[in-house]
Amino acid sequence: MSKKPRPNKIRTEFKKNYQQRPRDSNWTRQFRDGSLDDQSASHQRVSGKGDMTRHRTIQGQTSDSEEGLSIELESEDTSVLVGRVLKVHGLECVVVSQSGVMVRCAVRQVLKSISTDARHVVVAGDVVGYRPEGASQGLIVSVKPRQGVLSRTSKGKRHILVANVQQILIVASAAQPDLKAHLIDRFLVTAEQASREPIIVVYKVDLIDPAKLQPLVGVYSQLGYRVLLTSATQGWSIDRLRKIVAGKHSVVAGQSGVGKSSLLNAIQEGLALRVQEVSSENMKGKHTTTTAELLPLDSGGYLVDTPGIRQLELWDVLPPEVSGLFRDIRPYVNHCRFPDCQHLHEVGCAVLEAVANGHIDPRRYDSYVHLVQPE
Ligand code: GDP
Ligand code: ZN
Repeated sequence: MSKKPRPNKIRTEFKKNYQQRPRDSNWTRQFRDGSLDDQSASHQRVSGKGDMTRHRTIQGQTSDSEEGLSIELESEDTSVLVGRVLKVHGLECVVVSQSGVMVRCAVRQVLKSISTDARHVVVAGDVVGYRPEGASQGLIVSVKPRQGVLSRTSKGKRHILVANVQQILIVASAAQPDLKAHLIDRFLVTAEQASREPIIVVYKVDLIDPAKLQPLVGVYSQLGYRVLLTSATQGWSIDRLRKIVAGKHSVVAGQSGVGKSSLLNAIQEGLALRVQEVSSENMKGKHTTTTAELLPLDSGGYLVDTPGIRQLELWDVLPPEVSGLFRDIRPYVNHCRFPDCQHLHEVGCAVLEAVANGHIDPRRYDSYVHLVQPE
């Protein structure tokens, strides 16, 4: 359950030798030759404490909600710019500024010391405040509160894969490979769990008679999901998709071979080259990376197409939670007379009755069974 961020004070320890000198050594000289301006007075303070100060209180906001740690340090410093983290690589982040300039940023030590529980204090997708250092470098000094994260728990620790995701594009192919509706249902469960808007994109529709997809489209549309029937070779719904991703942060999910790279290239020229680069490099290894990378679109949006995230595993979803993540099954769960019902074989189960009465699509119910009882 998410809690509201609460303003509080954080006591944080300063690493020895980290503190800057309280003032410039050439202050006096600057004063003499008149180059010391008024601003220096507000920035610098002569302090008797010097190295004695090992703690410092930060007024700001932390949030230990679902979204993990977010830190907003109060700063009236106008030299701090806002950017978006495209990628985290070790101790370095690639940040894109609001004007589209790529900046390599380190993370300020004080932020790292606050993030005792978070594996990464800064993750791909974060909106950060950074202080430029030269033309293409900077220092991240604050992280804006996160909304919409994809995360998973590993070794008891919550690991945020990507932050500030707005929507998930679920890509399936109408043929070659065959349409796998149960896979769409599985991705929908992840989207529901993460409370992110899913968009079902059926691709390579040119290979079949589109009328054949009507029953499937009908079921999803009734549940309120958007479905797009697309083909790059025919140019079907490519413009619509382009509009859907414009200015938004979308994650792309789908089996390999369904045509994600081709589709992304159709949305934006020049993108597939980079997409292929990422996939060919990572597909060789046994372990697919979950380190996300944001691909900026000309329209101002971002796409995440990372091999490990594409599969959108059901991280952290427990079998009893699955029924609540199916929009069509959820309403019947409360009517079920058995408190611990799995809605599988129980006689008199409200969910099974709804399937029998045609209120729940049998194919969708089948997906549910496969998710809670994998063979
Ligand atoms: P990915 O693994 O999901 O990234 O899939 P790719 O983008 O590599 O594409 C898989 C295959 O789909 C390729 O052989 C493409 O030629 C084919 N393909 C791409 N776009 C279309 C399309 O609009 N229609 C059809 N029929 N095939 C397509
Ligand atoms: Zn039941």
